[in-house]
Amino acid sequence: MIKLKGRAVSEGIAIGRPVFIETGDIKVKREKAEDSLVEWRRVNEALGKAVSELDALSSEAKDSLGEAEAGVFSAHRAILEDSTFLDFIKDMIETEKVSGEYAVARAGENFSETFLAMEDEYIRERAADVKDAAGRLLSILTERKTWGSRHIPEGSVVFAHELTPTDTLQMNRKNVAAFVTSLGSTNSHAAILARSMGIPAVTGIDPEAVGKTSTVIADGYEGLVYIDPEEDVIEEYRKRQKELLREKEELESLKGKPAVTGSGKRVLLYANIGGPSDLEAVKANDAEGIGLLRSEFLYLSREDYPSEEELFQVYRTVLESMAGKKVIIRTLDIGSDKKADYFNIAEEENPALGFRAIRICLKRPEIFKIQLRAIMRAGAYGNAAVMYPMITSLREVREIKRIAEEVKSELEAEGIEFKRDIEQGIMIETPAAAIISDLLAGEVDFFSIGTNDLTQYTLAADRQNTDISEFYDPCNEAVLRLIDMAIKNAHTAGIKAGICGELAADPRLTETFVNMGADELSMSPRYILPIRRIIRSM
Ligand code: PEP
Ligand code: MG
Repeated sequence: MIKLKGRAVSEGIAIGRPVFIETGDIKVKREKAEDSLVEWRRVNEALGKAVSELDALSSEAKDSLGEAEAGVFSAHRAILEDSTFLDFIKDMIETEKVSGEYAVARAGENFSETFLAMEDEYIRERAADVKDAAGRLLSILTERKTWGSRHIPEGSVVFAHELTPTDTLQMNRKNVAAFVTSLGSTNSHAAILARSMGIPAVTGIDPEAVGKTSTVIADGYEGLVYIDPEEDVIEEYRKRQKELLREKEELESLKGKPAVTGSGKRVLLYANIGGPSDLEAVKANDAEGIGLLRSEFLYLSREDYPSEEELFQVYRTVLESMAGKKVIIRTLDIGSDKKADYFNIAEEENPALGFRAIRICLKRPEIFKIQLRAIMRAGAYGNAAVMYPMITSLREVREIKRIAEEVKSELEAEGIEFKRDIEQGIMIETPAAAIISDLLAGEVDFFSIGTNDLTQYTLAADRQNTDISEFYDPCNEAVLRLIDMAIKNAHTAGIKAGICGELAADPRLTETFVNMGADELSMSPRYILPIRRIIRSM
């Protein structure tokens, strides 16, 4: 038995089988390969495997996601079988005497760069498909352990060096018992996703340590991982799992009861979600509404922008399922650690300080307007509100409102049903927004304080960097004063203020936030009942 100590980033305990997966770009060195015939044969064999993988993915996607998603895999197959693409590889192997891997890697790069340089936007957007298709071929050639939903058996503890939000979303969550990674901080979006999926996660563990064991334990409370645990340790953890189940059952008695303090202060407890797949947890934990729908997750793990119709259907599903309860849809917060290749955002030195969230929406209003149309249209089917992320100035808010008005006029002119009086709020997640919250409050219907980014920007501490986690302290007085200031300014202007960052679920601060006057706390569904218990005992 080996006992490893890492960092706990999502609570829970899993006893399961380990699965090691590799993520990220594959780096291939230029290597001489004299026998061109052998290399070309290897490429062809890999191509055969890639094609059968893509066919299987395509029919699986057709059943579970629909024709459009399935089409992506057929498109990848067409790219790999394209004669120009294959001729490039063959030619390189023969004339430059390089390995099949190297030729495939260069072909992927070369063709995606050519696509990116094209005038036609549609073709430019296909660059990501070329990269992806070539990546699949390369992963087979380099015998990398790739995955798709079908590669992870039930009850797997997934080990990886690092998981991006896209990696996490692509996995079949029903089969993942826990995540164990070497990189990733508590407030990285992959960790946030793990918490909202209710999957235990530990970081700071070298995934290679897993070796060839058949059983592991991941303890998402203490940040411990046991490789090949002894029987008595397994027994101890089984007992702990039973206790946790009992505790959960006790919390069930709080369902249907309001979060109200002894002195009568009522706080709304809402859920943070990424999409319709989280609705089950929202119901199971009796959330009173949705305080943050991270809409950007719908843009990840796909090859192209979702259409207005697709977005509309998703928002409508969420709104109808919440049956009149408030649903706050945040407009897309892509950028920084949430990347989608088809946005074609240039590499940045400081992505968290770069082209992100509302900045992208204001610079590319055509993308923004499609989303706003979908939100406003879906608004006709429930109690919707829209919220804008990463605000730093009054100018941005006024520009957003101008675009929103434009969208409303267009929908009206087209005779399409929508919610005209939809509430519009902003996230207070930059120090600038908190400092000018008195001015911003006069412009919007509500505030929602994003403590994850507010902490990172106030303390100049990257939320992703585990090496400086001791400096990333959301309880720092500077952060708390900004939260207090924003809530007071909201109330002076007669609007409501909620908190939707991870801090909203931190039991150490529940009383502080209630005393500051927070009207609503929004969190991963699983924390709602424990926080309700604290508030009711205040
Ligand atoms: C936040 O920054 O606190 C927040 C809720 O948004 P995200 O974590 O998605 O950046
Ligand atoms: Mg944020």
